[in-house]
Amino acid sequence: MNDTLFSIIESGARELEINLPPNAKAVFEAYYDFLIEYKQIVNLTAISGAQEVARLHFLDSLALLKTVNFTNMSVIDVGTGAGFPGLPLKITNPSINLTLLDATGKRVIFLSELCKLLEVNAKCINARAEEAAHLPEFREQYDIVVSRAVARLNTLSELCLPFAKLGGAFIAMKSIDSDEEVDEAKNAIAALGAKITANYDYIIPGTDITHRAVIVSKISETPENYPRRFAKIQKAPL
Ligand code: SAH
Repeated sequence: MNDTLFSIIESGARELEINLPPNAKAVFEAYYDFLIEYKQIVNLTAISGAQEVARLHFLDSLALLKTVNFTNMSVIDVGTGAGFPGLPLKITNPSINLTLLDATGKRVIFLSELCKLLEVNAKCINARAEEAAHLPEFREQYDIVVSRAVARLNTLSELCLPFAKLGGAFIAMKSIDSDEEVDEAKNAIAALGAKITANYDYIIPGTDITHRAVIVSKISETPENYPRRFAKIQKAPL
């Protein structure tokens, strides 16, 4: 089964023109085994077969490496769950300085154990984004903020953009059907000190699924009152 996993990752990476490091086979296989072992306990993911995990988790995450240059960048993954997309990015480009953030304690324990097992050096933080983003340790400290499957883009922008440095970027992973959602988020993005600079549409190798990375550039400081408390964000989205 693991042979299938890595052969799909390898041919997908080739298709995406992404180079994998020499330890990629061992590390992605160990990641997969640990994910499957823990997924029931931690309710980590609905996706489980080797082919699906290879494509819908690993290759989908790796496609982000085509959007901007991640080398030596400080990156935070907001609402990372079982580590997607942040951890596959770090495995493939170890120069990334990675922070994985999630509100669910048991997922963060899973991530800490996983990082130790894989010998990947990443900070695993158990916090709500809207709270962590007000702490000087995190606020406007990241070159790149990434997030997948956490919230609609207007809400997600309020959770994510405060983490981005001036001149940095927030990359939201969305579906190809996100035109309306992206449009709806434009005011929020402007209010938070940013603007959409590109949409990068890609086919996940080995599937007919097209996903979209929405690239949002941070052009001015986020006003101090953002992010608001979660109830407020939900009740009155920007
Ligand atoms: N990004 C992963 C997980 C998506 S599930 C993937 O694509 O597979 C959404 C995750 O976001 C959950 O793990 C949940 O705990 C986390 N989350 C939701 N709201 C959050 C918030 N306000 N701050 C931090 N994490 C949050």
